[in-house]
Amino acid sequence: MLAETQALVHVGIWEWTLVDDKLYWSDELFQILGLAPGAVPPSFEQLLAHVHPDDLTTVKSYLSRARRDRAPTTAEYRVVRPGGEIRTVQARVRTIVDAAGTPLGLIGADQDITETKELAARLVFSDRMVAVGTLAGGVAHEINTPLATISTHLQLRADSDDDADDGTRAAREAVERIRTIVRGLSAFSRADDDVRTAIDLNRVLELALAMTSHEIRHRARLVKQLGAPPPVHANEARLGHVLINLLVNAAEAIPEGNADAHTIQVTTRADAAGWASFEIRDSGAGIARPHQARIFDPFFTTKPTGQGTGLGLSICHGIVRSLGGDITFRSDPGAGSTFIISLPPSADAPRTRKRSEEHQPVTRRRGSVLIVDDEVLFATSLRRVLGGDHDVTVVHNGRDALERFRAGARYDAIVCDLMMPEMTGAELHETLSALAPDQANQMIFLTGGAFSPASQRFLERITNLCFEKPCDVDELLSAVRRRVDARTP
Ligand code: ADP
Repeated sequence: MLAETQALVHVGIWEWTLVDDKLYWSDELFQILGLAPGAVPPSFEQLLAHVHPDDLTTVKSYLSRARRDRAPTTAEYRVVRPGGEIRTVQARVRTIVDAAGTPLGLIGADQDITETKELAARLVFSDRMVAVGTLAGGVAHEINTPLATISTHLQLRADSDDDADDGTRAAREAVERIRTIVRGLSAFSRADDDVRTAIDLNRVLELALAMTSHEIRHRARLVKQLGAPPPVHANEARLGHVLINLLVNAAEAIPEGNADAHTIQVTTRADAAGWASFEIRDSGAGIARPHQARIFDPFFTTKPTGQGTGLGLSICHGIVRSLGGDITFRSDPGAGSTFIISLPPSADAPRTRKRSEEHQPVTRRRGSVLIVDDEVLFATSLRRVLGGDHDVTVVHNGRDALERFRAGARYDAIVCDLMMPEMTGAELHETLSALAPDQANQMIFLTGGAFSPASQRFLERITNLCFEKPCDVDELLSAVRRRVDARTP
């Protein structure tokens, strides 16, 4: 019974009597060390032979402290089992004395706490990921708003000047680059809600590539072969994490500074079974054969402490399996590795945030447009953009907008920011749906990219268009034009 109880809680006990220098180990203590019970005669030397070399000093000093101080003493150390597996042990020891206070020996209990420690580390890691995600989403939102102003002004300048100078063109390209990275940041920061939609693998890959180009650039040439994989049913942020992790692993397998000699090749396609397939092949170090069976194990890493957590691939594996897919690899030590992900096709077609509408013939009536945006600079540049074709009114919060509707004002189009401090775009839409339903239909939303779960659900529910800032001015103009035309008799 006692042995079963020890096995249940993974506690091995030992006892050492001074008088005859005898050491007793329970069966569970042998098990913790990776030995069959009774396989070796118990001794302190045997124990030390199983202790991780880095923890030897800890164990020695803990044992001598126990003999000297007589008070119960504890220590945590790692043992290396004969097969190479490392376990973490929490050890407790105490001196036994007789009635006169003379020491008789030591008793100890060693508990295998490996799983508990792993769980705790996982929780810390996922907490950190959520915190980083929230921060990234917030930063993306903060960057997007000024970026929208820059982008709109650049577009205005390009429009007013047919052959825009090189500087303007370069600035527009730079804005486009920032825009892709920020879009990736905000899309990939939403991993904690498991909202799944039909997703275009190529699009997520482009975002992941934009986010990792810094890691890749100095190490390898990137070769892209993007085919036509079917849409997959997945959470965009989590899929993004998988791709980023594989891209970073591929980059880290290649030394810096010889980028011309190395390649990272990414391929997407529909495989023979009609599944979406993603393949990433690197010309890096490859994976040593003895490591190949362990790379998906949590905490397995060959990277220095502080650089690798060893959680990346185990998390990728978990995410891909939760999507009903598969992740495999092949590797030639010294010549590189290839990781392959296969995901079942989604039943729905992917829906981008900009929902496409039927193209309608353009008529030239000047419409009346209301802009509702708390960002004064952005609203001003938007007024300039739309003011060429329409009569534009600007307000900076939902309450002022509502006052106008209550007073009987009606507009052909209402361009409204989604996240505003006092009254959100969603709240304005809801109030208008009761007050003037036709006006709720005329709303076009803008978002800086930070989606609360509530606004995410709102966007799923409505059919209005929603543009991510900084948006393409031409697309916004034609969306407004379509709203105006829809109200033209
Ligand atoms: P980490 O990157 O923090 O070490 P991972 O779980 O992502 O954690 O990877 C575990 C280990 O797998 C890495 O430490 C490395 O040894 C190996 N590995 C993963 N991808 C590659 C690759 N593309 N080339 C070589 N080794 C790799």
